[in-house]
Amino acid sequence: MVARDLQTMLAGESRVDSMVQHSGAGSSGGSEAPDRLYEGYVFDLDGTIYLGDELLPGAKRLILKLRELGKRVIFLSNNPTKDPRMYAEKLGELGLETPASEILNTVVTMTRWLLSNHPEATVFPVSEEPLKNSLSEAGIRMSENPAEIDIVIASYDRGFDYRKLQIAFDAIWFYERAMLVTTNPDRYCPFPGGRGEPDAAAIVAAIEACTGKKCQVNVGKPDPIMLDTIMDLIGLDAKDCVMSGDRLYTEIQMAKAAGTPSAVVLTGETTERDLAGKSKENLPDYALERIDQLVPRDLWDEFGWEDE
Ligand SMILES: [Mg+2]
Repeated sequence: MVARDLQTMLAGESRVDSMVQHSGAGSSGGSEAPDRLYEGYVFDLDGTIYLGDELLPGAKRLILKLRELGKRVIFLSNNPTKDPRMYAEKLGELGLETPASEILNTVVTMTRWLLSNHPEATVFPVSEEPLKNSLSEAGIRMSENPAEIDIVIASYDRGFDYRKLQIAFDAIWFYERAMLVTTNPDRYCPFPGGRGEPDAAAIVAAIEACTGKKCQVNVGKPDPIMLDTIMDLIGLDAKDCVMSGDRLYTEIQMAKAAGTPSAVVLTGETTERDLAGKSKENLPDYALERIDQLVPRDLWDEFGWEDE
């Protein structure tokens, strides 16, 4: 019932009132777009704000308008192949100047998690340079000697090879000492044109397959550690913010766990068909064709916005 109503709504033939009337969904369970503004806006980046090296339609005018209105805007990414400064540079190049302090990714959350929970551990990051640099700056000890590794961090690593797999295997299986954790659970990173690149889940799977040991901790979406960190950062309540993203099993699942309203935007991974197959508990509050639909339609005239 909910799925059918959501499909109808996505086709643009139904308004919120009829949606609520048909489904009994009330204020949650799938309105097309918000009918209010929030105090804080948390955005995924890949597939939500940009895809590859281009901003997605409506992203720039939305972010500029939210800032002008004095709203808190924070960007999140599970991608550990960059650090916040690199994301800030990228956003700046795309025409969206953003301080690194308004960007949080799994390089930050993994470093914070280790400092809070295992500050004395010796770690082996199966990762690219940004995570290693952050761990190094935080004073966390790293080693490639499996006899002294306490934690293997499986990450999105385009330099992954058999040598690294052997070190992880020895530390976890042969020496039976290391715990396996991951920066993020993503299967792949989406690229323009429908392509993608294998992500951290592939590295986790390789290490789990040979060791028979399961990954124990994930510091990326959908773990609420990310949203908790943000709420601390901006001093807002989870319910006064809206989390927007293109993936149901990361951003939307995390928002639901944290009690934050959520919006899926259909410019990345999730399609209308994916939504139709989901039960109400797994559906976001809002489903948008483009990210600027986060602004209630009745404000568009006031803002001088037109359909693009
Ligand atoms: Mg995304």
